[in-house]
Amino acid sequence: MAQHLIAIFGGAVSGAEAAWQLAQANITSVVFDQNALPYGKIEDGLPKWHAKLRDKEEEAINEKLSHPLVHFVPKIKLGEDIHFEEVLNNWGFTAILLATGAWMDRPIAVPDIDNYIGKGLYYQNPFMYWFNHYHESGFEGETMHITDGALVIGGGLASIDVCKALMILTVQKALAERGIDEDIFSLERSIAKVLENHGIAFEELGVKPCTLVYRRRIKDMPLYPGPTDTPEELEKAERVREKIVENAQSKYFFEVLPNHVVVDKVVEGDRLKGLVLRKTKSEGKSLTEIPGSDYQMHTDLVVSSIGSVPEEIPGIPWKGSVYNVNECECCRIQGYDNVFALGNAVTGRGNIKESMAHGRSITQTLSENYLFDPETNLKDQLREKEATVGGNIDVLLERFHPLEPPRETSRLATLKKVEALQKLAGYNGNFMEWVEQNRPVRLEEMLGKIH
Ligand SMILES: Cc1cc2nc3c(=O)[nH]c(=O)nc-3n(C[C@H](O)[C@H](O)[C@H](O)COP(=O)(O)OP(=O)(O)OC[C@H]3O[C@@H](n4cnc5c(N)ncnc54)[C@H](O)[C@@H]3O)c2cc1C
Repeated sequence: MAQHLIAIFGGAVSGAEAAWQLAQANITSVVFDQNALPYGKIEDGLPKWHAKLRDKEEEAINEKLSHPLVHFVPKIKLGEDIHFEEVLNNWGFTAILLATGAWMDRPIAVPDIDNYIGKGLYYQNPFMYWFNHYHESGFEGETMHITDGALVIGGGLASIDVCKALMILTVQKALAERGIDEDIFSLERSIAKVLENHGIAFEELGVKPCTLVYRRRIKDMPLYPGPTDTPEELEKAERVREKIVENAQSKYFFEVLPNHVVVDKVVEGDRLKGLVLRKTKSEGKSLTEIPGSDYQMHTDLVVSSIGSVPEEIPGIPWKGSVYNVNECECCRIQGYDNVFALGNAVTGRGNIKESMAHGRSITQTLSENYLFDPETNLKDQLREKEATVGGNIDVLLERFHPLEPPRETSRLATLKKVEALQKLAGYNGNFMEWVEQNRPVRLEEMLGKIH
């Protein structure tokens, strides 16, 4: 009996939602993730002070991936451990879904500045990974060296999180030098409140604030997801953006330098020691750089948070800085009938809600328009749709693109390969047991502050 079998790469918000939607349609999926745990940006991006949100989202992923129709395979990176062409041609999946997120930092447009990564320059993705995990005793990642007075390039919500993290860490250190022990959870609620409770003014601490450098006006920052189509909506959005920044500055003391772009680097010896900034004029979407306005800003630390894009995977067509997808056709990857992309992997940005909604809508459309029940005559299935969409079968055949399920022997062989990969990773198929074995120690547990 032929049955569909779907491969999903990436098991976080969008990938887990896809597996869950398929399971609701009685379709089996295999979810591969490069990491031991499939939590993606929830674990490694969302700053660790969001412990409640993180736990809630991870529980939701656990529930979805524990479904009996979902086979989870940890520690398999598409493009490294297995190759796209091999999965496409030799594995016998009906379709392949890419829910691999956006893990590459957009590069700073200054020639050779990346030579200074780790020498005064960090990018946001590794920075947040370090921030979330450095407290773990077995942490083996790169250690970031934090100094005050950093320059953060950005403007979006993630760059404000970077500024918050830098201020929390530098103030925490300054307080520790005065014999005051404050954890990141109290400091994240409000550095201003913590200092007030200790009767210390921020200026007395001797901490130089970090500065967020943004190319447009504060009221243009991409901080508000609401509509901006009418003048009233735009005015509301601009007010909200200014309020978000004002609130964050009053709690965390970082500075903002709007209307500046980075045009060059300042280097001393083998280290990045600052940035050359140029002033800009901007109005809505238009931006003009002001000739002759360049000046140097010196710093020991630059953190770039100017957005993330998907990582290129050999064999998957690329357009600009994202996968080449046909958005009208269920985010199908150009040139392939049965490869689709979802979540951050398509947009390169967004939030949990958007990633989940995108994963859900793509998978529902996929199962309605492409994954027909192989046991029932296709025309009979389309006849059911005739009334709902007001077309006739010939029109429907044009619109729907039935994908062939693998032959039963090929499907069983694929599931055997999946089992072998699970064994290789040390995973026995019990998802919750695996989560318990691999879940990192939580800072709030170490501090005895379990919420
Ligand atoms: C600093 C920061 C703060 C944020 N704060 C918020 C917030 O407060 N609220 C909010 O709603 N959202 C927030 N977000 C955004 C939110 O976390 C993401 O939009 C969402 O989690 C993305 O989900 P996803 O499933 O699309 O992608 P990801 O979470 O990126 O998942 C992709 C998965 O694919 C796996 N993967 C990647 N490449 C491969 C490969 N080649 N082979 C196999 N597996 C692979 C990864 O390990 C990962 O598990 C924040 C993000 C950041 C960076």
